[in-house]
Amino acid sequence: MAGVTPFEIGLVLWAEGTADATLTYLTGFGLHALQLGVPPSMDCEASLEPWKAALPQYGVTATSAVCCYEGEDYADIERVHATVGFTVEKYRAERIERTKQIAKFADGLGIRAVSCHIGFIPEDRTAKLYEEMRDLTRVLCDACAAYSQNFVLETGQESAKVLLRFIADVERPNLKVNFDPANMVLYGSGDPVEALVLLKDHVLSVHCKDGLPPAPGTGLGKEVALGDGKVDFPAFLAQLKQIGYQGQLTIEREEPDAATKTADVRTAISRLNTWKSETSL
Ligand code: MG
Repeated sequence: MAGVTPFEIGLVLWAEGTADATLTYLTGFGLHALQLGVPPSMDCEASLEPWKAALPQYGVTATSAVCCYEGEDYADIERVHATVGFTVEKYRAERIERTKQIAKFADGLGIRAVSCHIGFIPEDRTAKLYEEMRDLTRVLCDACAAYSQNFVLETGQESAKVLLRFIADVERPNLKVNFDPANMVLYGSGDPVEALVLLKDHVLSVHCKDGLPPAPGTGLGKEVALGDGKVDFPAFLAQLKQIGYQGQLTIEREEPDAATKTADVRTAISRLNTWKSETSL
């Protein structure tokens, strides 16, 4: 993508404030690569012009638009199952519509990737839910294809093997993966570095996030500052290099306390720069 370089460090930010406030925060870290989170509150039509003006003004390239939807809740594993993505039928129509709005907004900004958590993909490919998820993912892929965009799945709520088979079953060339190694740890879905090898032909982008595995009986682990969790980042970066990855290293830190978040982003940048130089990236 123009304006960003392979392995450039970026950040996911939710556009909850103005474009100016969001980009001032991003560039305050010395970063210019953004995955733009589009919260449910954002009016995509009214927000287009301010974002279109602000991105070049701050020298920022937005590499993807990240969708989240009204009603999603990551508080615990039951809430994730009940509210996230497209597994629950009552949310589907409005969320497909919202994804189309976001794809249009992203197109207006020249963004060629739209990503989200679609929700847990069942292991049983003959399950009704599996077929419904496959079919609605085709709809989302085709909506993005109309804007020459990739539709991008966040990894981690299922094993790499299940995801790989799902991608094959969807049969859409613009279906890609945003590989988030921490999610594999948080949801106990397998070893992230091994999963990266399996999914390598489909990885468009990555999140640099870290976490601790779920405590027994909880099903959902805890996100922590980059380098303080169970993701082996030096091994992850070495594997990205090995598979010929050309995208960015996008830090994601979902931390409600603003001061802690800012401190953790600084820690992440510093540690990533160290690991990058050790890996000759
Ligand atoms: Mg992520």
